[in-house]
Amino acid sequence: MPLLKSWVESANDAKNPFPLNNLPYGVFSVDDGDLRCGIAIGDRIIDATGLEAAGILRADPDADVLDAPYWNDFMELGPKVWADYRTKLQELLAEDASDEIQDQLTTYSVPMAEATMHMPFRVAEYTDFYAGRHHATNVGTMFRGAENALPPNWLHIPIGYNGRASSVVVSGTDIRRPWGQLKSPDHDTPAFLPCRRFDIELEMGAIVGTPSNGPVTVDEADEMIFGYVLLNDWSARDIQAWEYQPLGPFQAKATATSISPWIVTKAALEPFRVDTPEREYELLDHLKDTGPMLYDIKLAVDMAPAGQPATTIARTNYREMYYSSAQQLAHHSTSGCPMRTGDLLGSGTISGATKPERGSLLELSWGGKEPLTLDTGEERSFIEDGDTLTLKGHCEGDGYTIGFGTCTGTVLPALEDPYAR
Ligand code: CA
Repeated sequence: MPLLKSWVESANDAKNPFPLNNLPYGVFSVDDGDLRCGIAIGDRIIDATGLEAAGILRADPDADVLDAPYWNDFMELGPKVWADYRTKLQELLAEDASDEIQDQLTTYSVPMAEATMHMPFRVAEYTDFYAGRHHATNVGTMFRGAENALPPNWLHIPIGYNGRASSVVVSGTDIRRPWGQLKSPDHDTPAFLPCRRFDIELEMGAIVGTPSNGPVTVDEADEMIFGYVLLNDWSARDIQAWEYQPLGPFQAKATATSISPWIVTKAALEPFRVDTPEREYELLDHLKDTGPMLYDIKLAVDMAPAGQPATTIARTNYREMYYSSAQQLAHHSTSGCPMRTGDLLGSGTISGATKPERGSLLELSWGGKEPLTLDTGEERSFIEDGDTLTLKGHCEGDGYTIGFGTCTGTVLPALEDPYAR
């Protein structure tokens, strides 16, 4: 599919992340005003809440679904409404739209540079998986040795844990270095200290649009997914190493998870579908691939010490995953676990086969044994106070780009006394 041209000129630039082919959904405000649902096109944001109230573009003829600062009510309406809304939106923004429509929509838009972005949806529940083979092999090798790197179940089910919806924040939110109980190998007893091995995890987040109650097939799961965001699962490695056996990570992952502010819809990603990797063992029928289930999304991680330029420390691709979000969602439902509108599924850390493709500092610095040298000359094994970490992602189409925006966060020093009142 080629670039679809819009009367919003900036959207026709092959490098602009938000062409007519994309149209991601977010929530914005201007000048401390109300939070409103918005759609990115070129360098502008269309006020979807305003268009609905004015009767120019409605998802539901009988009820307002965009009069709240989140897209959940819209998502709940399901794939037919998502598709119809997108078609109408593309007509309104196409280069052959009438002058009258162009004037109307210009009235209901703001320059992106003037807007503040907020959480695009209310996170119902948050589950994080561990579905990147290179990441799991790297971490397993460090924690348990090369022979036991992949647990015996890993090639048969997408492993996950239930995270906290309350910890999910939008890109741009500062992240406070946590305190926690950790045990240094040099000491016999654990201590309560600020985390010394604070890390990122480069992931994609899939957002569940329509609910389920009972097991769903992989195809049904794919239909339920509304869209995708970049996701950074901030991780306290020293807390994790002490607490994770036998029930998995807990406080190590509960400080914060950042997401990019624009939900890129599954429809926009359709031209970029790719196959999952070859299977070592055939998956059981209910988890089998039913077509290309991953997406060709180029990903990168930037690290910038306070007041200094950023260094790109990793580049990889979402297609490196072993399991797709649809397979993860299908697996999640096998027990009968009800899935809800607004559920967020973290893909698991995305790492490629080689060192510069690793999606966490734990892997990039090999547990701190091989520190990175940034372009500024500074060395890093883990995050230091004041560092800004930014995830970036995009798909390269035929003369256009599908961008996700960025997922960024600056790490603040730990509190001097976390229990001070
Ligand atoms: Ca993770």
